[in-house]
Amino acid sequence: MASLDQTLMERLDRLRDQGLLRRVRPVSSVSKTRLVADGSPVLSFASNDYLGLASDPRLAESAMVAMKKFGAGASASRLISGSVAIHQDLESALADYKGTEAALVFSSGHAAAVGAIPALVGSRDIVILDHLAHACLIDGARLSGARLRVFAHNDLHQFRQRLAWACAEREKAAAAPDQEKVRILVVTESLFSMDGDFAPLREIAEDCAPAGAWLFVDEAHSTGVCDSFGEEQSGPPGKLPCDAIRMGTLGKALGSVGGFIAGSKVLADYLVNHARSMLFSTAPAPSASAAALRALQIVQSSEGQMLRRNLWSMVGKVSSALSGRGGASSPIIPVAVGEEGRAMDAASRLWESGIWVPAIRYPTVPRGKARLRVSLSAAHEGADLDKLIEGLRLQGLT
Ligand SMILES: *Cc1c(COP(=O)(O)O)cnc(C)c1O
Repeated sequence: MASLDQTLMERLDRLRDQGLLRRVRPVSSVSKTRLVADGSPVLSFASNDYLGLASDPRLAESAMVAMKKFGAGASASRLISGSVAIHQDLESALADYKGTEAALVFSSGHAAAVGAIPALVGSRDIVILDHLAHACLIDGARLSGARLRVFAHNDLHQFRQRLAWACAEREKAAAAPDQEKVRILVVTESLFSMDGDFAPLREIAEDCAPAGAWLFVDEAHSTGVCDSFGEEQSGPPGKLPCDAIRMGTLGKALGSVGGFIAGSKVLADYLVNHARSMLFSTAPAPSASAAALRALQIVQSSEGQMLRRNLWSMVGKVSSALSGRGGASSPIIPVAVGEEGRAMDAASRLWESGIWVPAIRYPTVPRGKARLRVSLSAAHEGADLDKLIEGLRLQGLT
């Protein structure tokens, strides 16, 4: 065998031995929470489609209208000729929803992070990251070349130590003549993707403000699910009391695909000039942007409010069933298992009973912290939850 394949096969074998091998499961049909995957019908608790909008016919309809009008693809980078009207409409709607001056659409949330972070900071600067920050935030921070400091997950005390250290480093650097000021960028998530808990954003922002640090918040999971940085489940989007860069995805509650940065008009203008993942990549498909725009209208309507109410009442129900395991504070519910192999076994037994709950393992979460990740959607019904809770009970996981 050729040396490339030989080497790669050995590496895959090692992953298999550790219970860490992954593969993609072919899904042949999707109807909200019902899928046919690997040829079997299953009830899914595996998607991030929190409001059940991904298979909503209104999104598909808007996508088709846009496709007929603008074509299947945008045909170029936004900067060349790919910036069609629907992208601008979506950006205004996103800015309006987030309560910011402007928003900028990217081809994915991942692209938004790896484009924006290195555009904002460089090798003289400092990035302070929550330990559980999403892979795209870590990638963006590494790509920037900035010095990285990590604080324990949601640990305000350690965060303040890192921030104080960064401020002292900035002071030291300021003593040298003719140097540009060292910038400090704090990076965290509003609602954490694997633990389903919320960052203490208000406190973090209140520390960033006097320190002159910038705050980058990944709102991938809270967008559409929580209206205000995840602090409250209702009410208008809030403002943070410091310089903030807010990032999100159109691929989760908004049921489409794409990513965005929301913030000041100057920030958007700056990123158009510096975010390489936008400059050097084809613009999002117009149909995807049209679907996201339609989703945003639903999210902001009374129907959206009702969907969120349903969703949060289901969170309450599952939380009381899992109270022995810490309950749940959001539609992302980690059921701790620990050992990778055990998590895989539990997931496959649930699968055999027609329930899809993915096992999450290293490197998505730390080694030995494998878990089942239940994700709820407004499209689930009461009987679905009963089935889930019974399935978890049979595995000794409630
Ligand atoms: C999914 C996710 C992203 C990436 O968004 P995509 O649009 O899927 O690329 C970024 N951050 C977090 C926390 C996520 O969960």
